[in-house]
Amino acid sequence: MNGATRNRQLLTVGSDRKGSLVKRKDYLPEGKCAICGGEIAEIQVFSMAHGTDPNSGERVGMVTLTGACTHCDIDFYIYFTNGVSNDWVLKAPSASQLLEPLTQNEIAGLNAKLQRYQTLGKSWQVFLSRARDGDELWRYAHADGGITGITHVRCGVPIDQFETFGSL
Ligand SMILES: [Zn+2]
Repeated sequence: MNGATRNRQLLTVGSDRKGSLVKRKDYLPEGKCAICGGEIAEIQVFSMAHGTDPNSGERVGMVTLTGACTHCDIDFYIYFTNGVSNDWVLKAPSASQLLEPLTQNEIAGLNAKLQRYQTLGKSWQVFLSRARDGDELWRYAHADGGITGITHVRCGVPIDQFETFGSL
């Protein structure tokens, strides 16, 4: 199957969301959880975008799917460009971006700061609520430099990310 055919099929998926996506799961690379090795399930369309490559002038379709390890409750993402996929990845910083674990005082400070913002405060609470026993909260440096964000580290692996417009 060539890339163009795969692209059309994935774009069809977007119009019908989850139902047809399950039927077309065989076009997806098999996903294994980076923590427990379990299967990545609950696959859904996360976002779709179309545009024109400024250099080549060709049409480009970008599709992002999300799935989760039902055992660990960790989200994974897979990115398709014109129907060609990469591997499933965590939306999380790499271990080399980690700076230091947060102290209890710092966590309390962030709680107080973020609850002043309705949407951001809720997102922060959801982020915290998905932690498991043994997870640590770490500050990390954004890949582009400048701002910092917060991630849970589980078994030495950063598993998620929380970022805002400014450093946390
Ligand atoms: Zn898992």
